[in-house]
Amino acid sequence: MVSQFNVPATIISGGGASQDVGRQLLRLGATRVLLVTDAFMIASGVAEKVTAELERSGLPFAVFGGVQPDPTDADVREGLAALRRLQGDAIVALGGGSPIDAAKAIAVLAKNPEPLSLYQGYHKVPLAGVPVVAIPTTAGTGSEVTKVAVITDTARDVKMMMLDRHFLPTVALIDFELTLSMPPALTAHVGVDTLTHGIEAYVSSKATALTDPLALTCIRLVAEHLETAWREPSNRAAREGMMLAATLGGMAFANSSVALVHGMSRPIGAVFHVPHGLSNAVLLPAVTRFSLSGAKERYATVAKTMRLCSSDLGTEPACEALVTGLVELNRRLNVPRLGECRGVERARFDSVVAKMAEDALASGSPQNNPVVPAADQVIELYRQAF
Ligand code: NAD
Repeated sequence: MVSQFNVPATIISGGGASQDVGRQLLRLGATRVLLVTDAFMIASGVAEKVTAELERSGLPFAVFGGVQPDPTDADVREGLAALRRLQGDAIVALGGGSPIDAAKAIAVLAKNPEPLSLYQGYHKVPLAGVPVVAIPTTAGTGSEVTKVAVITDTARDVKMMMLDRHFLPTVALIDFELTLSMPPALTAHVGVDTLTHGIEAYVSSKATALTDPLALTCIRLVAEHLETAWREPSNRAAREGMMLAATLGGMAFANSSVALVHGMSRPIGAVFHVPHGLSNAVLLPAVTRFSLSGAKERYATVAKTMRLCSSDLGTEPACEALVTGLVELNRRLNVPRLGECRGVERARFDSVVAKMAEDALASGSPQNNPVVPAADQVIELYRQAF
């Protein structure tokens, strides 16, 4: 199998890494910079720390702070207008996956024709965009190191998955200190998202020898650090472990693929606006049980990497230990069932579940799953997670 591996040209990680932003932009030859972020980053003063670095570097800048969680094409259009008003030639993305994805889409549209929906799917962007320096504040999506952007097309109510090397940030500044402010529920949801990246990258039919070690290290770090980060938000070692896990998980899945969990998760986000990490977390145990038979050895390795069973246990019981372990992890982290998530009502769920299954299959991700489901099986899995 021929495969392609892309990561940002420069990755700087460690406590305080975000302070390098001005130097990195100057090195890229930037002259006018748009900071793309969200309301929380502005209200909490984190955006101001970044703009202080831009001022220190003498770079003119503007701030677009209007990105919503799970961003839409409207957010991207507004950000693009801000970039054009500024005549900006570089973007800093600050926040979780939402501001980073919006920034990547703005950067691509700065040099390519609209609408953004032209680029839904794989390898469809003709020209490189303006450079993006990504600073993640959740751990997380790994978006700072991926060639993926996920933006909702509001006309169709579809979360578009776009994968192209032109969506890759040029520089990632990975500073775990920015995640110390995450509350427990957000820590849990984005942390299970990270775990899902590691597991799906490892069991995907597109996994490679380059992505396997990244995926397994991601899984091990989540098993070691997620619950501590959730219980003790200011635990620096746990936060650093989770930040590294998110980055490794991003590198792994973007160069292997995600699979059925992500395919089914995006329609839940598009229809019910359940946050991305949470919609993955509610699906992971049921989808893992469904998929075991297609990659038993690999799922057993995941169980052993997470230390859910002894390293010499047989494949079948190790697979069982994995499903039990994932159910238990959700329970300990207070992850609700799908039907308990805010905004998800039974009647509406019943009326849209068939369309959700159709959209999940159309995204292409389920086709990389160890067991490729039919539409009625996807519907059944949504019902099981409810
Ligand atoms: P997010 O960016 O939507 O943020 C969720 C909330 O957490 C927001 O209110 C935000 O302000 C807040 N927040 C962010 N950092 C914080 C901090 N340090 N302390 C306190 N609050 C903080 O959440 P996310 O899960 O990081 O991103 C989700 C989006 O990323 C989805 O749209 C998803 O589809 C996308 N995604 C993209 C990729 C990719 O490779 N491009 C991968 C996975 C997911």
